[in-house]
Amino acid sequence: AKGDGRGKHKIYEPSMHSEASDRQVLENDLRQALDRDELWVAYQPVVHASTEQVCGFEALVRWNHPVRGPISPAKFIPLAEECGMIPKIGKFVLQAALKEAAAWPDHVRIAVNLSPIQFNDPGIAEMVGTLLKESGVRSQRLELELTEGVFLSEGALTDETFAKLKEVGVRLALDDFGTGYSSLGYLKKAPFDKIKIDQSFVRGAASKTNRNSAIIRAIVTLAETLGMDTTAEGVETHDDLNLIRELGCSQIQGYIFGKPMPGEDARALANLSVVE
Ligand code: C2E
Ligand code: CA
Ligand code: CA
Ligand code: CA
Repeated sequence: AKGDGRGKHKIYEPSMHSEASDRQVLENDLRQALDRDELWVAYQPVVHASTEQVCGFEALVRWNHPVRGPISPAKFIPLAEECGMIPKIGKFVLQAALKEAAAWPDHVRIAVNLSPIQFNDPGIAEMVGTLLKESGVRSQRLELELTEGVFLSEGALTDETFAKLKEVGVRLALDDFGTGYSSLGYLKKAPFDKIKIDQSFVRGAASKTNRNSAIIRAIVTLAETLGMDTTAEGVETHDDLNLIRELGCSQIQGYIFGKPMPGEDARALANLSVVE
């Protein structure tokens, strides 16, 4: 019934009301989640495709709701973006992640997701620089993961922010590559160091048609030509792993090597890794 404006009467749907109030309740809970220590950060290993050595971790925020249990970030991050909580949550994740990374060997990188809302904050580069200094982590060890969302409200600020972040010295990754409408245009515009190939191309690629492989191969070739690394996300099976290796991705992230884990476990794993 929603959005159907062709002369029909609006029909009251109880489900609409309860969905709205459910959101409201969750939003209120989210506002208090940080103060109540309900948020924590998990770390998923990223490995070199050739040697399977850990080269870094991606920080992924977690919410342990006191009543509902764990709530997926796919659900609460959009909520946080809408209700104005994302700057606070994003800063919390960055701080926590840098603190962990400071305890890892120097060659192990930390990747942190940056919401478009954070990216569009004129003070973002300065904040990242300050947090890096406080943590003592070398700026080249931090990789910020951006999605095409950062280009949607494109203005003069976009170029300036990219330039400032490069000045701070962090690495930039284009996340969820291939899922948007004009990914190629974005590659041209911004100084990315890495492309993260979206799970929708990777997961089950070995059992899918050759088209999937062709797309992955093309992305890898493109990235190599532009001097960028590639990470294949969502590698779960040995068949997919073998295929992804053959296709030349430089790095791999997926359940086959490790799910997102608590900082303590990540630290143990990081300390096992050796320099390539
Ligand atoms: P993303 O940035 O694309 O992160 C990768 C997601 O894929 C993670 O889900 C990870 O657990 C999952 N994943 C990795 N390997 C596999 C695999 O082999 N199989 C399957 N089935 N899944 C795999 P997660 O942690 O639930 O996060 C979902 C999304 O929430 C993230 O997607 C990201 O967009 C957002 N997110 C998470 N943490 C943060 C954060 O701190 N800040 C922001 N802005 N967004 C975040
Ligand atoms: Ca990501
Ligand atoms: Ca991704
Ligand atoms: Ca995603």
